[in-house]
Amino acid sequence: AKQAGRATYRIFEAKMDQELQARKALEYDLRQAVLKHELEVHYQPLIDLDSKSIVAVEALVRWRHPSRGLVSPMDFIPLAEETGLIVGIGEWVLEKACTQALSWPQLRVAVNLSPIQFRNRDLIETVRDVLTRTGLEPARLELEITESVLINDASSALDILNALKDLGVRIAMDDFGTGYSSLGYLNSFPFDKIKIDRSFIGDMNGKDKSSAIVRSVITLGQSLNMTTTAEGVETAEQATFLTQEGCNQIQGYYFSRPIAADEFTIFLENWTGF
Ligand code: C2E
Ligand code: CA
Ligand code: CA
Ligand code: CA
Repeated sequence: AKQAGRATYRIFEAKMDQELQARKALEYDLRQAVLKHELEVHYQPLIDLDSKSIVAVEALVRWRHPSRGLVSPMDFIPLAEETGLIVGIGEWVLEKACTQALSWPQLRVAVNLSPIQFRNRDLIETVRDVLTRTGLEPARLELEITESVLINDASSALDILNALKDLGVRIAMDDFGTGYSSLGYLNSFPFDKIKIDRSFIGDMNGKDKSSAIVRSVITLGQSLNMTTTAEGVETAEQATFLTQEGCNQIQGYYFSRPIAADEFTIFLENWTGF
């Protein structure tokens, strides 16, 4: 039995070793990716429901891996966060997105901030520098953060958000409804926008609980004077429901997947509403 146990342990060890190797390899590749310019930013439109016009884009990072193809951020952001690489990647995405936004003069650009970036001492300076370097009007930049950045140290989170607001940028709460005690946060932090998580949108059928939740978040946003955005809109029915309920903006595959900048320029030129 002891013998078998040792053998099992060796197999376990070997497996751990393999996983560690794979992780190390991915980490090495990711460091190279940054140096070899394999990262790209794709853009997805946000549509204003009053005017039926495109008012903003969300910048979403992708990795064009030489052998793996286009790698989803879900497959490398966690590693980038664990290794700290996200700080450099995040700054690169921010600068790329702000520069790109200059060629779409009427649009705001939304950039995701990782909790790791959020806790980095240099965040405020980085954002200020990028705005200065690119010349993008601060009010055209929207930073998306999730509730998780608020839980550990609410008072320093508030300081950071206030400092960002002082730069003139806008702050959006991303993935609203998936985190912890969302309602209190809306009250205590200076959010300009609530993004209703796509899990609620995908579940809606008009009479169910998800529709009721979406409806109340829209009402909540209205009374708190925040813009409401629904993400993950995939059908005409969802778009109609959200329009009826007074949601301000929608985003989703129904209009466009995230696409490369030149593709988006064409998309924008051809947009005639929906
Ligand atoms: P997120 O911030 O919630 O971004 C929205 C995600 O929903 C994007 O996935 C987008 O492609 C996807 N999406 C948009 N419309 C639809 C739809 O109609 N249906 C469905 N099923 N999905 C839709 P993506 O691009 O794979 O990004 C995943 C996550 O990775 C993002 O979620 C965000 O948390 C993170 N991420 C992406 N880019 C960055 C970045 O530059 N920095 C950081 N820190 N995180 C990023
Ligand atoms: Ca987002
Ligand atoms: Ca989101
Ligand atoms: Ca998300």
